[in-house]
Amino acid sequence: MKGTMKGVFKENAAPGAIYTDLPIPEIGDNDVLVRVRATAICGTDLHIYPWTPWAQARVTPPMVFGHEFSGDIVEKGSGVTEFAIGDRIAGETHIPCNKCHQCLTDNRHICEHMKIIGVHVPGCFSEYISVPKDCLWKLSDSVDYNTGAMLEPMGVAVHGLTETPVLGRSVVIMGCGPIGLMAVNAAKIMGAKQIIATDVVPAKLSLALELGADAALNTTEENQSEKILSLTNNIGADTIIDYTGNVDAIRGGFSWLRLGGTCVLVGLPNREITLDLTSSVIYKEAKIFGVTGRRMYQTWVKCEEILATGNFRMDKIVGGIYKLEEYEKAFDALKNGAPGKMLLIPA
Ligand SMILES: [Zn+2]
Ligand SMILES: [Zn+2]
Repeated sequence: MKGTMKGVFKENAAPGAIYTDLPIPEIGDNDVLVRVRATAICGTDLHIYPWTPWAQARVTPPMVFGHEFSGDIVEKGSGVTEFAIGDRIAGETHIPCNKCHQCLTDNRHICEHMKIIGVHVPGCFSEYISVPKDCLWKLSDSVDYNTGAMLEPMGVAVHGLTETPVLGRSVVIMGCGPIGLMAVNAAKIMGAKQIIATDVVPAKLSLALELGADAALNTTEENQSEKILSLTNNIGADTIIDYTGNVDAIRGGFSWLRLGGTCVLVGLPNREITLDLTSSVIYKEAKIFGVTGRRMYQTWVKCEEILATGNFRMDKIVGGIYKLEEYEKAFDALKNGAPGKMLLIPA
């Protein structure tokens, strides 16, 4: 498709971005052109927009960024037979190579040559995006565009919950950002016996209670470790899932993990951390899983199953809905600690 579109463009290797006219992206044989209907701001974008060292090491402007989106297929390459023009889709962020050992053994989400939409190739904060056919999930009719744009982060939450059984278990979910909150709600629907949420922001903790947490504890207060132990009959939690990447949270987590329990690590620490392996892991016979992204596409199937129950409150996860051109307002709100997920809607 020829013509121009509006987009949020990272022009230079510097903080900020501009809203400007850009050419509509060209597509290759195995790509589709998507008219973006809704897009959401991710933690990654909170590095790219202000231009943190994390972004400086990975992103090469000029480019459109953003990677959580839904929309309609409006054009497709000659090699795309799996999808049709008019299909409503959500985007999978991870672009697999389809050739490496991981891709060939059904682990495309940890492809050895992974590229990421909106980080290594142009993103979705624009009216149109070119997407490889490997990165498309067809939405059920009952899933609206706003929910569709949040399936990618919901997938991270749900992937964290599917590495270990949660049915009938006590689960501590550490970190109540959008992904942690989605995990609280999904764990409830998946039949967790007891959900304890932790965070440092009171507004996020009250949301966790609304979304199904049995207890929500502020880790800036004292004796939280004892509280969690007493809530779990002094046995400790069956499972702890960390969505914070915070060193103290992770270390604290092992103190309330029961013997033989499971720790799932999702949040990314920004530095090396030390841990007393003897008492925290070995004597405890703790199982530790690292989780990244979503399985392609088993996690997406699970997310749709959870949505189909009708009990998942994606509306409560939304922190604000802005026009795409109001991106600065949305980023400012997040910088000021607003809870929930910010959506940007192209005109
Ligand atoms: Zn994301
Ligand atoms: Zn690969």
